[in-house]
Amino acid sequence: MSATDPGKNAIYAMRNRDYRVSRGGMRPTSASCVIQNEFGDDTLVGKCHRAEWYRLNGIKATDPPTDRSFGIFAAGIGMEDYFQTMWKNQGVLLAGSVINYGAVGNDPRVIISGESDIILRDFEMDDDGQVIRVYQDRAFGIEMKTCRGHFAQKEIFGRGNKKYPMGKPKMEHIMQTAMYLMMRKRHEDHYGVTIPYYLIFYFDVADGTYVSFKISLSNGYDGDILVETLDGKTVAPDPVYGLTIGEPVVPWSGLTTDNILARYSELADKLELPDPPEREYQLRYNDTTARRKFAIGDLSKTKFAQWEKKPLAEVGDWQCSYCDFKSHCYPVSVLTADVESGILTVNEAMAELGYDV
Ligand code: SF4
Repeated sequence: MSATDPGKNAIYAMRNRDYRVSRGGMRPTSASCVIQNEFGDDTLVGKCHRAEWYRLNGIKATDPPTDRSFGIFAAGIGMEDYFQTMWKNQGVLLAGSVINYGAVGNDPRVIISGESDIILRDFEMDDDGQVIRVYQDRAFGIEMKTCRGHFAQKEIFGRGNKKYPMGKPKMEHIMQTAMYLMMRKRHEDHYGVTIPYYLIFYFDVADGTYVSFKISLSNGYDGDILVETLDGKTVAPDPVYGLTIGEPVVPWSGLTTDNILARYSELADKLELPDPPEREYQLRYNDTTARRKFAIGDLSKTKFAQWEKKPLAEVGDWQCSYCDFKSHCYPVSVLTADVESGILTVNEAMAELGYDV
């Protein structure tokens, strides 16, 4: 028995609720792509195939969501429901929780299954925001994301961001939304509207600010993924940033529907392997990566100093830090590579990590 705590009970209910049974298939949130970043380096963005291999092979997550994560999910779900109600009351909500399911591209193994948040009828409004005209034949999608904290303000809203002063949506969210754009024909036909773009609508639940980015595809249903601010400016790095770090900075390239679909096909190949594929992110950066990321400003001075001084510190990709399968993939944390190459035994690694063995 423990003291009656309705908060804890709600978290229990969230953890144990019946989830909508998945139709199977690959998820839009699992999209990934190799792009050329703002400095011309080939860079993977999006989901790690090794993590997807674990998930799609039914391996139990070793690092599942914590109670705090459930609280954070709840804020996101509650916010989305409330905004839907507001748009419904304004007469512009066309659909919520929109199912996207089916084959995408030419590889029959690439069956995508996911739910996009909201479709609104396109509308005009006055300076106060009141709707003055609703279009019956035009709509747009909304993918709603709640966020919070210093890094969200910097990365997404552009506060104190020298590389992207206008802010930038997260690559994972851009790709997820691009998948919905590729799959939207069925919804256009069903509702009798055109849906030329989606918005990614970020709401910072900590300070109440919000920002939207417009995502569209250069060829309508495929092509380059175009990312703009709400008033139509292309999201691109500030060239002045290049001067400050002594290296030219250019817009990223290679973020295309073809490249994303090629990665899904590659994942389908890897799913046929008996063992997990190579790691695609680093729990602790190797020497080359750490120095390169520091040079282009993707690793802060503090983090770089920590990386230099603490050989056991997990200074690496956030994808690994937050990975549900981290303990499968890196069973002895940052010393896993040394164990795999025979430099250390598991017991020696555990002892170095401070465990009693
Ligand atoms: S820990 Fe990192 S490399 Fe391993 S599966 Fe997860 S994201 Fe991929």
